[in-house]
Amino acid sequence: MATHPMENQVIPVPLADGYVVESVFYGSGTLCISTQVGCAVGCPFCASGSKGFFRNVSMEEVLQQIKAAEETTHPERITLSGIGEPLHNWNVTQALIETSGWPVSVTTTGFPLKRFRALLHLPHNGVMVSLHSAVPSTHKRLVPKGPDCNELLACLHDEWNHLSRNKKRKIGINYLLLEGINDLPEELEAMAAVMRSLPEATLHLLLCNPMEDSTFQSPPDERLQEIYHFFREQGIHCRRANSWRRKEDGGCGTLMVRGLNGREERA
Ligand code: SF4
Repeated sequence: MATHPMENQVIPVPLADGYVVESVFYGSGTLCISTQVGCAVGCPFCASGSKGFFRNVSMEEVLQQIKAAEETTHPERITLSGIGEPLHNWNVTQALIETSGWPVSVTTTGFPLKRFRALLHLPHNGVMVSLHSAVPSTHKRLVPKGPDCNELLACLHDEWNHLSRNKKRKIGINYLLLEGINDLPEELEAMAAVMRSLPEATLHLLLCNPMEDSTFQSPPDERLQEIYHFFREQGIHCRRANSWRRKEDGGCGTLMVRGLNGREERA
Protein backbone atom coordinates (compact mmCIF):
# COMPACT_ATOMS: atom_id res chain seq x y z
CA MET A 1 0.00 0.00 0.00
CA ALA A 2 1.34 3.41 -0.94
CA THR A 3 1.82 5.85 1.90
CA HIS A 4 -0.11 9.11 1.91
CA PRO A 5 1.95 12.16 1.11
CA MET A 6 1.50 14.93 3.68
CA GLU A 7 0.85 17.56 1.01
CA ASN A 8 -1.98 17.76 -1.49
CA GLN A 9 -1.02 16.45 -4.87
CA VAL A 10 -2.55 18.03 -7.98
CA ILE A 11 -2.83 15.55 -10.86
CA PRO A 12 -3.36 16.93 -14.39
CA VAL A 13 -5.37 14.57 -16.61
CA PRO A 14 -5.34 15.15 -20.41
CA LEU A 15 -8.66 14.35 -22.12
CA ALA A 16 -9.05 13.03 -25.66
CA ASP A 17 -10.24 16.35 -27.15
CA GLY A 18 -7.31 18.34 -25.80
CA TYR A 19 -8.72 19.72 -22.55
CA VAL A 20 -6.81 18.94 -19.38
CA VAL A 21 -8.68 18.76 -16.07
CA GLU A 22 -7.07 18.38 -12.69
CA SER A 23 -7.89 16.25 -9.68
CA VAL A 24 -6.39 16.55 -6.21
CA PHE A 25 -5.22 13.81 -3.88
CA TYR A 26 -5.47 14.88 -0.25
CA GLY A 27 -3.08 13.35 2.26
CA SER A 28 -6.07 11.93 4.14
CA GLY A 29 -6.71 9.44 1.33
CA THR A 30 -9.48 11.37 -0.44
CA LEU A 31 -9.31 11.94 -4.19
CA CYS A 32 -11.11 15.07 -5.41
CA ILE A 33 -12.48 14.56 -8.93
CA SER A 34 -13.64 17.07 -11.54
CA THR A 35 -17.05 16.37 -13.07
CA GLN A 36 -17.08 19.10 -15.71
CA VAL A 37 -14.71 21.02 -17.92
CA GLY A 38 -15.52 24.49 -16.61
CA CYS A 39 -18.68 25.35 -14.70
CA ALA A 40 -21.89 27.26 -15.40
CA VAL A 41 -22.71 28.31 -11.82
CA GLY A 42 -20.50 31.40 -11.91
CA CYS A 43 -19.51 31.75 -8.24
CA PRO A 44 -17.54 35.03 -8.33
CA PHE A 45 -14.80 33.81 -5.96
CA CYS A 46 -14.06 30.87 -8.31
CA ALA A 47 -12.52 31.70 -11.67
CA SER A 48 -14.36 28.94 -13.51
CA GLY A 49 -17.48 31.09 -13.30
CA SER A 50 -15.81 33.79 -15.33
CA LYS A 51 -14.71 31.32 -18.00
CA GLY A 52 -18.02 29.49 -18.21
CA PHE A 53 -18.88 25.92 -19.04
CA PHE A 54 -17.22 23.86 -21.78
CA ARG A 55 -18.59 20.34 -21.42
CA ASN A 56 -19.37 17.49 -19.05
CA VAL A 57 -16.78 14.87 -18.11
CA SER A 58 -17.73 11.33 -19.17
CA MET A 59 -17.67 8.29 -16.88
CA GLU A 60 -14.61 7.04 -18.77
CA GLU A 61 -12.88 10.35 -18.04
CA VAL A 62 -13.75 10.07 -14.34
CA LEU A 63 -12.20 6.59 -14.31
CA GLN A 64 -9.21 8.07 -16.14
CA GLN A 65 -8.76 10.57 -13.29
CA ILE A 66 -8.88 7.76 -10.72
CA LYS A 67 -6.41 5.66 -12.71
CA ALA A 68 -4.01 8.60 -13.05
CA ALA A 69 -4.14 9.20 -9.29
CA GLU A 70 -3.54 5.54 -8.53
CA GLU A 71 -0.22 5.68 -10.37
CA THR A 72 1.32 7.73 -7.55
CA THR A 73 -1.16 7.70 -4.64
CA HIS A 74 -3.56 5.37 -2.88
CA PRO A 75 -7.07 6.86 -2.87
CA GLU A 76 -9.51 5.34 -0.39
CA ARG A 77 -12.55 7.44 -1.23
CA ILE A 78 -13.72 9.91 -3.86
CA THR A 79 -15.19 13.35 -3.51
CA LEU A 80 -16.90 15.10 -6.43
CA SER A 81 -15.63 18.50 -5.32
CA GLY A 82 -13.34 19.49 -8.14
CA ILE A 83 -14.21 21.53 -11.22
CA GLY A 84 -17.92 21.68 -12.01
CA GLU A 85 -21.34 21.22 -10.44
CA PRO A 86 -21.93 17.45 -10.05
CA LEU A 87 -25.71 17.86 -10.32
CA HIS A 88 -25.20 19.31 -13.81
CA ASN A 89 -23.60 15.99 -14.78
CA TRP A 90 -26.26 13.92 -13.08
CA ASN A 91 -25.95 10.60 -14.97
CA VAL A 92 -22.25 10.31 -14.12
CA THR A 93 -22.74 11.47 -10.51
CA GLN A 94 -25.59 9.03 -9.92
CA ALA A 95 -23.76 6.11 -11.56
CA LEU A 96 -20.59 6.74 -9.57
CA ILE A 97 -22.48 6.72 -6.29
CA GLU A 98 -24.63 3.72 -7.12
CA THR A 99 -22.35 1.43 -9.07
CA SER A 100 -18.65 2.34 -8.81
CA GLY A 101 -17.99 0.60 -5.49
CA TRP A 102 -16.13 3.69 -4.23
CA PRO A 103 -17.33 5.68 -1.21
CA VAL A 104 -18.41 8.88 -3.00
CA SER A 105 -19.16 12.24 -1.42
CA VAL A 106 -20.48 15.23 -3.35
CA THR A 107 -20.09 18.99 -3.02
CA THR A 108 -23.01 20.80 -4.64
CA THR A 109 -24.82 24.11 -4.82
CA GLY A 110 -28.07 22.08 -4.80
CA PHE A 111 -29.34 22.97 -8.25
CA PRO A 112 -31.47 21.62 -9.84
CA LEU A 113 -33.48 20.95 -6.70
CA LYS A 114 -35.14 17.82 -8.09
CA ARG A 115 -31.71 16.19 -8.45
CA PHE A 116 -30.57 17.54 -5.09
CA ARG A 117 -33.59 15.92 -3.46
CA ALA A 118 -32.77 12.60 -5.14
CA LEU A 119 -29.08 12.89 -4.21
CA LEU A 120 -29.89 13.09 -0.51
CA HIS A 121 -31.37 9.59 -0.68
CA LEU A 122 -28.63 7.91 -2.74
CA PRO A 123 -26.03 5.73 -0.93
CA HIS A 124 -23.50 8.58 -0.84
CA ASN A 125 -20.64 9.06 1.59
CA GLY A 126 -21.53 12.69 2.29
CA VAL A 127 -23.27 15.68 0.71
CA MET A 128 -21.72 19.11 1.25
CA VAL A 129 -24.13 21.91 0.36
CA SER A 130 -22.29 25.05 -0.77
CA LEU A 131 -24.67 27.54 0.82
CA HIS A 132 -22.14 30.24 1.81
CA SER A 133 -24.93 32.51 3.08
CA ALA A 134 -28.44 32.05 4.46
CA VAL A 135 -29.32 35.64 3.52
CA PRO A 136 -31.01 35.33 0.10
CA SER A 137 -29.43 38.44 -1.47
CA THR A 138 -25.91 37.40 -0.39
CA HIS A 139 -26.49 33.81 -1.47
CA LYS A 140 -27.61 35.03 -4.89
CA ARG A 141 -24.45 37.13 -5.18
CA LEU A 142 -22.14 34.26 -4.18
CA VAL A 143 -23.91 31.40 -6.03
CA PRO A 144 -25.55 33.29 -8.92
CA LYS A 145 -26.80 30.34 -10.97
CA GLY A 146 -27.45 28.07 -8.02
CA PRO A 147 -30.88 27.48 -6.49
CA ASP A 148 -33.01 30.08 -4.78
CA CYS A 149 -31.79 30.17 -1.18
CA ASN A 150 -35.22 29.83 0.43
CA GLU A 151 -36.28 27.06 -1.95
CA LEU A 152 -33.05 25.15 -1.26
CA LEU A 153 -33.54 25.37 2.49
CA ALA A 154 -37.21 24.40 2.19
CA CYS A 155 -36.19 21.36 0.15
CA LEU A 156 -33.60 20.37 2.76
CA HIS A 157 -36.11 20.79 5.58
CA ASP A 158 -38.74 18.78 3.65
CA GLU A 159 -36.37 15.87 3.25
CA TRP A 160 -34.76 16.06 6.68
CA ASN A 161 -37.33 13.94 8.50
CA HIS A 162 -37.14 11.29 5.79
CA LEU A 163 -33.41 10.78 6.33
CA SER A 164 -31.91 8.32 8.81
CA ARG A 165 -29.79 9.72 11.63
CA ASN A 166 -26.72 8.32 9.89
CA LYS A 167 -27.65 10.09 6.65
CA LYS A 168 -28.31 13.36 8.47
CA ARG A 169 -24.85 13.22 10.01
CA LYS A 170 -23.36 12.96 6.53
CA ILE A 171 -24.83 16.30 5.45
CA GLY A 172 -22.55 19.32 5.65
CA ILE A 173 -23.16 23.00 4.97
CA ASN A 174 -20.22 24.75 3.35
CA TYR A 175 -19.63 28.34 4.44
CA LEU A 176 -16.79 29.99 2.54
CA LEU A 177 -16.02 33.01 4.69
CA LEU A 178 -15.46 36.23 2.75
CA GLU A 179 -14.45 39.37 4.56
CA GLY A 180 -17.04 42.15 4.57
CA ILE A 181 -19.59 40.00 2.72
CA ASN A 182 -20.80 37.00 4.72
CA ASP A 183 -18.85 37.45 7.96
CA LEU A 184 -21.14 40.22 9.28
CA PRO A 185 -23.21 39.65 12.46
CA GLU A 186 -26.54 39.34 10.61
CA GLU A 187 -25.00 36.79 8.26
CA LEU A 188 -23.67 34.70 11.14
CA GLU A 189 -27.05 34.83 12.91
CA ALA A 190 -28.86 33.68 9.75
CA MET A 191 -26.43 30.78 9.27
CA ALA A 192 -26.73 29.80 12.93
CA ALA A 193 -30.53 29.66 12.57
CA VAL A 194 -30.19 27.31 9.60
CA MET A 195 -27.81 25.05 11.53
CA ARG A 196 -30.10 24.93 14.55
CA SER A 197 -32.84 23.69 12.21
CA LEU A 198 -30.55 20.88 10.96
CA PRO A 199 -29.07 19.75 14.29
CA GLU A 200 -27.18 16.66 13.06
CA ALA A 201 -25.51 18.49 10.17
CA THR A 202 -22.00 19.93 10.27
CA LEU A 203 -21.05 23.48 9.37
CA HIS A 204 -17.77 23.59 7.43
CA LEU A 205 -16.01 26.94 7.65
CA LEU A 206 -13.91 27.31 4.51
CA LEU A 207 -11.33 29.81 3.42
CA CYS A 208 -10.87 31.52 0.10
CA ASN A 209 -7.84 30.21 -1.74
CA PRO A 210 -5.54 33.00 -2.88
CA MET A 211 -6.04 33.93 -6.52
CA GLU A 212 -3.99 36.55 -8.32
CA ASP A 213 -6.84 38.58 -9.78
CA SER A 214 -9.48 38.02 -7.08
CA THR A 215 -10.95 40.82 -4.98
CA PHE A 216 -12.28 38.33 -2.43
CA GLN A 217 -10.43 37.44 0.72
CA SER A 218 -11.18 35.57 3.92
CA PRO A 219 -11.19 37.35 7.29
CA PRO A 220 -7.99 37.41 9.37
CA ASP A 221 -7.25 34.51 11.74
CA GLU A 222 -8.44 36.33 14.86
CA ARG A 223 -11.87 36.94 13.32
CA LEU A 224 -12.01 33.35 12.08
CA GLN A 225 -11.49 32.10 15.62
CA GLU A 226 -14.29 34.38 16.86
CA ILE A 227 -16.64 33.05 14.18
CA TYR A 228 -15.74 29.45 14.98
CA HIS A 229 -16.44 29.99 18.69
CA PHE A 230 -19.68 31.88 17.89
CA PHE A 231 -21.08 28.71 16.33
CA ARG A 232 -19.55 26.27 18.82
CA GLU A 233 -20.96 28.15 21.79
CA GLN A 234 -24.44 27.61 20.36
CA GLY A 235 -23.91 23.86 20.22
CA ILE A 236 -23.53 23.87 16.43
CA HIS A 237 -21.30 21.12 15.08
CA CYS A 238 -18.70 23.20 13.31
CA ARG A 239 -15.42 22.35 11.62
CA ARG A 240 -12.63 24.56 10.44
CA ALA A 241 -12.10 22.63 7.23
CA ASN A 242 -8.57 22.05 6.06
CA SER A 243 -7.11 23.62 9.21
CA TRP A 244 -7.67 27.12 7.87
CA ARG A 245 -5.78 26.11 4.75
CA ARG A 246 -4.55 29.09 2.78
CA LYS A 247 -2.45 27.21 0.28
CA GLU A 248 -2.52 27.41 -3.46
CA ASP A 249 -3.44 24.28 -5.42
CA GLY A 250 -5.67 23.39 -2.50
CA GLY A 251 -8.77 22.42 -4.43
CA CYS A 252 -11.90 24.56 -4.75
CA GLY A 253 -11.26 27.66 -6.76
CA THR A 254 -7.75 26.81 -7.85
CA LEU A 255 -8.01 23.74 -10.10
CA MET A 256 -7.01 24.32 -13.69
CA VAL A 257 -8.76 23.63 -16.96
CA ARG A 258 -6.43 23.90 -19.90
CA GLY A 259 -8.14 24.65 -23.16
CA LEU A 260 -7.76 23.27 -26.64
CA ASN A 261 -5.47 26.11 -27.65
CA GLY A 262 -3.17 25.64 -24.72
CA ARG A 263 -4.69 28.55 -22.79
CA GLU A 264 -4.99 28.04 -19.09
CA GLU A 265 -8.21 28.65 -17.23
CA ARG A 266 -8.52 28.38 -13.51
CA ALA A 267 -11.62 26.67 -12.14
S1 SF4 B 1 -17.23 27.06 -6.73
FE1 SF4 B 1 -17.90 25.10 -7.63
S2 SF4 B 1 -20.04 25.52 -8.33
FE2 SF4 B 1 -19.08 27.54 -7.99
S3 SF4 B 1 -18.24 28.12 -10.03
FE3 SF4 B 1 -16.56 27.06 -8.90
S4 SF4 B 1 -16.70 24.90 -9.57
FE4 SF4 B 1 -18.68 25.89 -10.08
